[in-house]
Amino acid sequence: MFFDPLYLVLVVPFIIISMIAQYKVKSTYAKYSKVRNTRGLTGAQAAQAILSYYGITDVAIQMIGGTLTDNYNPKTNVISLSQDVYNSTSVAAVGVACHEAGHAAQYAENYAPIKLRNAIIPICNFGSSLSIPIILIGAFLAARVAQGFSILITIGILLYATVFIFQLITLPVEFNASRRAIKVISETNLLYDEEVSGAKKVLGAAAMTYVAAMLVSLANLLRIIIRFSGRRN
Ligand SMILES: [Zn+2]
Repeated sequence: MFFDPLYLVLVVPFIIISMIAQYKVKSTYAKYSKVRNTRGLTGAQAAQAILSYYGITDVAIQMIGGTLTDNYNPKTNVISLSQDVYNSTSVAAVGVACHEAGHAAQYAENYAPIKLRNAIIPICNFGSSLSIPIILIGAFLAARVAQGFSILITIGILLYATVFIFQLITLPVEFNASRRAIKVISETNLLYDEEVSGAKKVLGAAAMTYVAAMLVSLANLLRIIIRFSGRRN
């Protein structure tokens, strides 16, 4: 759009942190993808074990394409595991599969943050696409037409903030899904001690990417506030 030195100072450092976190999750995942678990459980079997632990019987587990595309869809009640995870007996596969099953458990137990996160998705989508145009139109009209139009800047900033709020709520959701996964993995001996610590490392690295994404979004929000809030006076 236009060059913004604030972007360079405030946002770029967090984008670099985010890239490091992405690299770290890929390398940790690659490392523990090569470590077989002693019981020879596949990702799909491990996810099923988590569902059984929580007494969940209405969630299906299916295979999808891609790498690290694993997810749980609450609308269809389906856990989708990438090919590498579904059939693999690696420590990484068990960790990732159990994490996704952890999300299914969150729904089954009405864990509030995941419900809240999904409820605000439409607002976030609206906010992420329209906030900047609304801010720019507000700044233009406030300068050229009437000061009163600066209310649009405030509305735009609030819409922009919804993206940050989404990323913030994502943190307890992701940490909690991993905590559930590791708890059941240990309690039911899906993995043995050293294997558990490998799965923990994979899920911990994945969690850091969410922390980094939240920081990028916070930095962007601050940049927008600093850049545009002065224009209201
Ligand atoms: Zn997750």
